[in-house]
Amino acid sequence: ALTIGIVGLPNVGKSTMFNALTKNSVLAANYPFATIDPNVGVVPLPDSRLDRLAEIHSSEKVIPATVSFVDIAGIVRGASEGEGLGNKFLANIREADAICQVVRAFEDGDVVHVDGAVSPESDMETIHTELILADLQTLERAVPRLDKEVKGKKTDKAVLDTALAAQRVLEEGHTLYAAGAQAGVDRELADQLGLLTTKPFIYVFNLDEDQLADPDLHERLRALVAPADAVFLDAKLEMDLIDMSEEEALEMLQGFGAEESGLTQLARTGFHTLGLQTYLTAGPKESRAWTIRRGWTAPQAAGVIHTDFQRGFIKAEIVSYSDLDELGSMAAAKAAGKVRMEGKDYVMQDGDVVEFRFNV
Ligand code: GDP
Repeated sequence: ALTIGIVGLPNVGKSTMFNALTKNSVLAANYPFATIDPNVGVVPLPDSRLDRLAEIHSSEKVIPATVSFVDIAGIVRGASEGEGLGNKFLANIREADAICQVVRAFEDGDVVHVDGAVSPESDMETIHTELILADLQTLERAVPRLDKEVKGKKTDKAVLDTALAAQRVLEEGHTLYAAGAQAGVDRELADQLGLLTTKPFIYVFNLDEDQLADPDLHERLRALVAPADAVFLDAKLEMDLIDMSEEEALEMLQGFGAEESGLTQLARTGFHTLGLQTYLTAGPKESRAWTIRRGWTAPQAAGVIHTDFQRGFIKAEIVSYSDLDELGSMAAAKAAGKVRMEGKDYVMQDGDVVEFRFNV
């Protein structure tokens, strides 16, 4: 499964947020792996469509999609000098598919800031710098080796060119992700080189309650990180929300102009940043969301349920959720001509409710 690594300076609220994330993983029964690693939080992606499907099909249970977060402790200013970023830290971050940076904006005299003052800009800069320096060190070692290999015709010149282009971007102080495609750095080749800053970034701003209700502040912070996604939450409030009833929590959130908890927003944003989408299945046993990459075809999607489904794929019987919701039953949807048969080249769409036909 794809994972999102959580990083940030000390005392910004990472542990508080991560504890809330793991406390929120109430699905251990359906996701046994969720409890294995204490550093991994598997967060459900609430999906009201599943409740409606469960109603239509009298499903025994509902299984939403999930997003996995890994707590990656251990980044401090200067880490890349001297000791270097810890090997464990680097390995953890290399394994993650996206980097979620927690940035402190809340003021609290009782919580010491490592640099003496709260400054989201300077915190982000510190983390970026450490990751950029780590990538530059990787390239310093890689370039002479690649140079030799290209001369010896053992490696494609494109790999060396990517390394050199990446070096230029990083030396200017940009992450490869922020520099984007126009920097001429091939993402796939950069990944092969083991670079960290090509990974998609998400920024979580940990706010206090006044800041949470301040849309102007959100806009300012959003502009700082665009085109990366930003999420605004109050880690302490997230902890409190977990112990409330759904109604209480919603009322609380609405007081801050929000409809969903920060953790749910983070899960949605993470899902989007990872380039994922879901399709739905429904029956008496369960109504369920399955995770696929955007752009996947019907057989690829079937393979997520079982490899046999992909291998023996014949066709997919698909109805759009909105049609099924409106018509109220599969029989009515069929009668209205809303159930389609799609073949192996069909590209899955958001909201597809699917039944696969396959040979075993
Ligand atoms: P970490 O070092 O980044 O993991 O930070 P912690 O989660 O341990 O938080 C450091 C301190 O800040 C703890 O005392 C938390 O209770 C406090 N803290 C975390 N989030 C918030 C917040 O949103 N507001 C306030 N006022 N304090 C917070």
